[in-house]
Amino acid sequence: MATVELKDVRKVYHGGVEAVKGVSIAIPDRALCVLVGPSGCGKSTLLRMIAGLESITTGSVAIDGAVVNTIGPAERDIAMVFQNYALYPHMNVYDNMAYGLRNRGTPRDEIDRRVRETAKTLELAHLLERRPRELSGGQRQRVAMGRAIVRNPKVYLFDEPLSNLDAKLRGQMRVEIRNLQRSLGVTSVYVTHDQLEAMTLADTLVVMNAGLVEQAGAPLDVYEKPASTFVASFIGAPPMNLLPLDRLEKANARQAAATIGFRPEDAEVDAASAGNGLALDATVEGIEPVGAESFLYCGTPGGRIVLRVPGRAAAQPGDRLHVSVDASKLHWFDEGGKRI
Ligand code: ADP
Repeated sequence: MATVELKDVRKVYHGGVEAVKGVSIAIPDRALCVLVGPSGCGKSTLLRMIAGLESITTGSVAIDGAVVNTIGPAERDIAMVFQNYALYPHMNVYDNMAYGLRNRGTPRDEIDRRVRETAKTLELAHLLERRPRELSGGQRQRVAMGRAIVRNPKVYLFDEPLSNLDAKLRGQMRVEIRNLQRSLGVTSVYVTHDQLEAMTLADTLVVMNAGLVEQAGAPLDVYEKPASTFVASFIGAPPMNLLPLDRLEKANARQAAATIGFRPEDAEVDAASAGNGLALDATVEGIEPVGAESFLYCGTPGGRIVLRVPGRAAAQPGDRLHVSVDASKLHWFDEGGKRI
């Protein structure tokens, strides 16, 4: 049982780089909070401050209501899973998992019970005698998680744990981590730059940009109501289409709006009329069939857009299309990129 609360946390590195510029996040007990954002936005720094591996310049980190700013990493009762799982190559799976407990002087039979129980949960029971080099990537990742789980900590911290795995395995492990985190009910903070991983894992999604939180909320709320053009273009693949209004002849534009946006799946091709919505003449420039759907890359007077259509696209490069978007599917942003 644990909550994690960050209050106005800042980090200025030696040399003056302000990596985190004042972040406040409250993570409820048992929740999985995902920090997502482009490289360099400060997410690893934030995670390392929660872990105690990096000092906090100002602000506070509290675990279970107690401020831990000056408490060392070993005393914070957290466990971390990294991308390079850093297993001990000369130790077998059992010893890799038992290592942390032995270091803490946990009694032998208690260690044995916990390691075997965890190995069962992670389907590693038949691999306990193997060395890391005798395991697949996914199995190694599971051992790394096992090492965190046996310690039975208050909080798990994950730093891009899946980025060394291939796409298929990443998908499988994503589901495993999600199920495991739910069933163990341990409060977790998970860092990734992968928006799909973030969307599918998070209870709370925190989108970061340049050391600040751009938006925090339930993943689908963030997808449906992005707070800024930054979030709109970061969450969703392909990203939201964003067009500057001064290049469109658009009546009924929202007051103070500078940019109009719509998701690739929200446009209709060659529909009768857009009504109060947006109508665009588009020229097909490229087509990407990905199986169940196709992406159409098009040029319009307002700029390039991408459309998402089911199945095989009937269009060819050079075709001219009439694209319309219902008014209810439009997103409006002001000069500064903030949602209106
Ligand atoms: P992310 O995890 O989102 O990629 P980081 O937290 O690693 O971002 O980095 C945020 C910013 O802080 C970057 O500008 C990075 O160059 C800088 N930074 C990270 N670590 C250090 C360090 N030890 N010393 C100085 N600057 C750092």
